[in-house]
Amino acid sequence: MPQIGTASHPLRVAIIGSGPSGFYAAEHYFKQPDLVVSIDMYDRLPTPYGLVRGGVAPDHPKIKSVTKVYDKIAAHPAFRFFGNVEIGKHISHATLKEYYHQVVYAVGAQSDRKMGIPGEDLIGSHAATEFVGWYNAHPDYRDLEFDLSQRAVAVIGNGNVAMDVARILASSDEELRTTDIADYALEALRNSNITDIYMLGRRGPAQAAFTNPELKEMGELREADVIVAYEEAQLDDLSREWLAKEKNPVAEKNVRMLQDFAARGPQGKRKRVHMRFLVSPTELLGENGRVTAIRVVKNVLQPAPDGSLRPKATGQTYDIPVGLVFRSIGYKGVELPGLPFDEKNGIIPNTLGRVTDSAGAVLPGVYVTGWIKRGPSGIIGTNKPDSVETVNAALADLPNLPEIAPEKATPEAAEALVRSSQPAYVTFADWGLLDAAEVEAGAAQGRPRIKFSRIAEMLETIQARKASEPNPTA
Ligand code: NAP
Repeated sequence: MPQIGTASHPLRVAIIGSGPSGFYAAEHYFKQPDLVVSIDMYDRLPTPYGLVRGGVAPDHPKIKSVTKVYDKIAAHPAFRFFGNVEIGKHISHATLKEYYHQVVYAVGAQSDRKMGIPGEDLIGSHAATEFVGWYNAHPDYRDLEFDLSQRAVAVIGNGNVAMDVARILASSDEELRTTDIADYALEALRNSNITDIYMLGRRGPAQAAFTNPELKEMGELREADVIVAYEEAQLDDLSREWLAKEKNPVAEKNVRMLQDFAARGPQGKRKRVHMRFLVSPTELLGENGRVTAIRVVKNVLQPAPDGSLRPKATGQTYDIPVGLVFRSIGYKGVELPGLPFDEKNGIIPNTLGRVTDSAGAVLPGVYVTGWIKRGPSGIIGTNKPDSVETVNAALADLPNLPEIAPEKATPEAAEALVRSSQPAYVTFADWGLLDAAEVEAGAAQGRPRIKFSRIAEMLETIQARKASEPNPTA
């Protein structure tokens, strides 16, 4: 047999997941000058782009424009997209391995971390990730209901997802109606009674995980003031020393901006985003099964062995009356049938992207990249070097890869498998029809697009557009 990856023996790769890490993996395979490779990218949704479509905030269109890069990758003649096909449901991992020399999982982190405090499951307590999916028209979340008739809301966590959630709740209709936010979410937020949003960080201003542009934006909202207590914006001695030593420009700027907000005070806007620091939720309080308040304990910072400053509860507690809580303390990966899983870290165990079993042995030809590889951290661009690392490992493995049956190692065989497993699969050209329909619907309302949020609607639209296309053979 000639070497895998040559003209007479092309490398067949399946990438599972069409978010940033999946596309960057495809890009790096295609960049290899002497490699003959064909790639099939699978996604359980009919739409590509993962969190760029379902996670990035609707009022951040510049970040979303990265999809143009992904479209160029998808235009490669050896690339195919099989949307609406779920690995583990329509096709098993074991079957996939019969058809592809290499399978790269780029499935992200599809769940959320739990707080582990009493009252977490009361009505009105939600994972921020659910709210994000809801306002972004993700089919899994579009039927969730959030009681926006409440006046006060708590958002737990100090990361960029917490910032996104707080900002969307604090935005005016004017700010949202020119975005691609789900139309039902736009309507619900238009009628929202929320006036007070409490963002709760368990550490201080210098340790916040959000970044400078997100904090700046919060201070520029038309209808919402940012309220920071003077004493909470001041640094304790340990944070001051830590900041001087770390020379972390993002943290330094965050602290400066928060101190400016504290000095500025309220401007009398209709809504308020209260940014509280050094508080940890200890319990969600409720009546008749619904959240009515959140109990927090005040923290101080103490040094940890790794040099970071960690929160330590003082025992001093107070309650904030809220009718809605969004827990935004991080995403978590989900176990996939037939693959090992590291429950503690919510990732598929791996070495440099090579999937390993519980004994640490490498599973030949199986790889991971993105959040399911390293955990839910970093911005979109972080996935590029991560995928390069994984694909470099995969390329180094080429000489030692187990062979697959020649009759299954072809694009035609894989397509036949997909067709028999999930006849309603969606190609990249099909997605193009859907994309055009969304953009056209948006243009009529001065919005970038109006997203479909139901899979059945997506499939019907594709069929209708196909039926109305001129028949090239007619
Ligand atoms: P994140 O950045 O890891 O932030 C999680 C936050 O939750 C931290 O403030 C953390 O505090 C806090 N937390 C964790 N456990 C907690 C607990 N038990 N009680 C109270 N607070 C707790 O995660 P994320 O916000 O989900 O974002 C995920 C990644 O996506 C990040 O890398 C983020 O930057 C990125 N992202 C970027 C953008 C953007 O670029 N605009 C938008 C959204 C997301 P500690 O620091 O004390 O652990």
